[in-house]
Order: sequence, then structure tokens, then C-alpha cells
Amino acid sequence: MKQKEISLNIVNNKDNTDIIGDDHLSWSPDTPLRADAFDIDDETKISLIQYHFKEIMLVLGLDLTDDSLKGSPNRVAKMYVNEIFSGLNPKNKPEVALFENKYKYNEMLVEKDILFYSNCEHHFVPIVGKAHVSYISNGNVVGLSKINRIVNYFAKRPQVQERMTVQIANELREALQTDDVAVVIEATHLCVSSRGIKDVSSKTVTSEYSGKFKEVETKNEFLKYLGKL
Ligand SMILES: [Zn+2]
Repeated sequence: MKQKEISLNIVNNKDNTDIIGDDHLSWSPDTPLRADAFDIDDETKISLIQYHFKEIMLVLGLDLTDDSLKGSPNRVAKMYVNEIFSGLNPKNKPEVALFENKYKYNEMLVEKDILFYSNCEHHFVPIVGKAHVSYISNGNVVGLSKINRIVNYFAKRPQVQERMTVQIANELREALQTDDVAVVIEATHLCVSSRGIKDVSSKTVTSEYSGKFKEVETKNEFLKYLGKL
């Protein structure tokens, strides 16, 4: 491999990562997206990421003529755009149709143990967890699978768990037209378990409660269904 194949633009690493370190300090409720985020189509994104990921592999010293490695840049690019980061694009947001609550079921509905795979936006390694969601119908209901789809739409972004929790709750409040929503997320962050401090047993728990779920009795009922009380 010739040295000039690698376009080495040595960048000055004097951003703030040295000061902040590995701690996940700040986040905003909206995923930070550029104004031109979707000016280019998915196909162009895949070819650009393929090019740049190949550069990363070359810089690492990998031999891209090897049979096992040569397809990796394309595989990674397709996986980023079509799968694990597909939730960045609003066109992939699940449509949520509301139905009238004909059964007059006015109690709490809990959809628990919704498995999701996300990625930490600080290290780009997986976050694996379960979301537990609840709402009290104000006369409208959604198909249960829609709740799983909403969770997975927001999971498929570079994420911060706190933001993901708020994004799911906001979306459910809007879709269900009610404030009575609760979201609890428990997750393992591979940036904590597989590197850095290498803590394999810790989990991160985040929650968002609004409307009736702010009341202790309602919140406790929800937590009881989760086996947390
Ligand atoms: Zn991380």
C-alpha cells in the first residue's frame, strides 16, 4: 500500500474532549443535526461514508485487498444509513394512527421490556437496553407495535440515553394526545462495559413522567407492573 493512498489530513485535536474526558456531560433534547442534514440522498451518503470509512481502515493499517476486509467499508456504510442510524431521517419516522378507545379502557396500559439497540454518540459503540412505556388513554389508543416502533426509531440514532427517554415521551404525548405518559429506560452502555472503566455489571436507568404519572400512586402502580416496587 502506497502512503499517498491515505489522505492524511492531520487535524489538531485541541477540541474539548481532553477537558470533558469520557463523562457524558451535556445533551439537548433535540438530536443535534445540521441544517443540510438531508440535502443529499441515502445512496450518496452510503458512497461517501464508504469512502471515508475505508480511509479510517487504511489509517489503522488494515490491508483492504484482503478478502475478508475489502467489503467492510460498503457494509458499514449501508448499515449506518439503512439500519443503525436510520432514525436520524424524519422520513423513517413511524406513522402513528389513532383509534377510538371503543373498549372504554381507561386504565393504565403498560408496554414493557421493549428491546432496543442504540449507539452512544460520544463513542459510537452500542447501547443495549429495554424501554418500558405506559400511557393512560384519553379516548384514543394506538396499535401496540407502534410503541415499539417509536422506541426503535429514536434508538436508531447516535444517542444519549437521557435524550432518547425525552424524545420517546414527547413523541408519545403528541401521538396519543395525552400528557399521561411514562417512559423508563434501563440500558447497558458498551462504552462503559467494554472499554474505559470496564464495568460490566452497571446499568443506566432514566425516566420521564408527565401528567397523572407525576402522582405517586399512579407512578407506583406503573413501577409495580415493572417489578420495581
Ligand atoms: Zn459513550
